[in-house]
Amino acid sequence: MLLRRITQHVQNQNWFAVFIDFIIVVVGVFIGIQVANWNEALREKQAEKVYLERMHEDIKFAQAFVEESIRRRIRDFEASLVMIEIMNEDGSELTDEYIECALPSSINILIDLPFLNTIKELLETGKVNILDDAALRNGILELQNRSELLTRFQDLTLSSIINITNEFSNSIKQRASRGDADEIRLVRHCNLKALHANNRFINAISENMDIADAFINKRLIPWSEQIEKLHQLIDQSLNLSHP
Ligand SMILES: [Zn+2]
Repeated sequence: MLLRRITQHVQNQNWFAVFIDFIIVVVGVFIGIQVANWNEALREKQAEKVYLERMHEDIKFAQAFVEESIRRRIRDFEASLVMIEIMNEDGSELTDEYIECALPSSINILIDLPFLNTIKELLETGKVNILDDAALRNGILELQNRSELLTRFQDLTLSSIINITNEFSNSIKQRASRGDADEIRLVRHCNLKALHANNRFINAISENMDIADAFINKRLIPWSEQIEKLHQLIDQSLNLSHP
């Protein structure tokens, strides 16, 4: 219709009308492109919100999981330190409970990092730029960096960990037993006198604890601090405020 009108105006040599028609076409195309851009921006904004909400759920789960894991590790680690102090003295206060705490804390440098599926998806598909906040994007890369450091630490030090239960099986009896919720738990009975007299035992526990200390303080806690920071940035992007 517009083309027919323009052709007619050209035939009539009505150049002013041709000019007006030309302007109408240019403005029309411009508005069309703008509307397409706005729609695209709106779609991206909606997609960003979906990603942020999914990330928020992942992060909340990861935070709860890791905080609990760190809390238990620190509790066991502190009890192990007390055990070493007791063993440095006459050992009379040494109980099975101390050994129970010392064994996991001295060997437990493994943790299955919680799945952060949304972050993984954003990184693998190269869609991380959909997130508007540059601090959030950098935060995700920093988390990835800390995850790699943590995994590398586990790979490098796992072979250095001394398996205390096997190494001192003469003094530590370990048996599998059915516990609550039908899960198998390991019950240990120790010859406390023999362990107290065995300097190799305290050396081995101390060596393991040195590695566990580095794992907790230099790898695991920085990882969890980054998770906490990301959570705050996501809350800001979603305008959320909660304890
Ligand atoms: Zn939140």
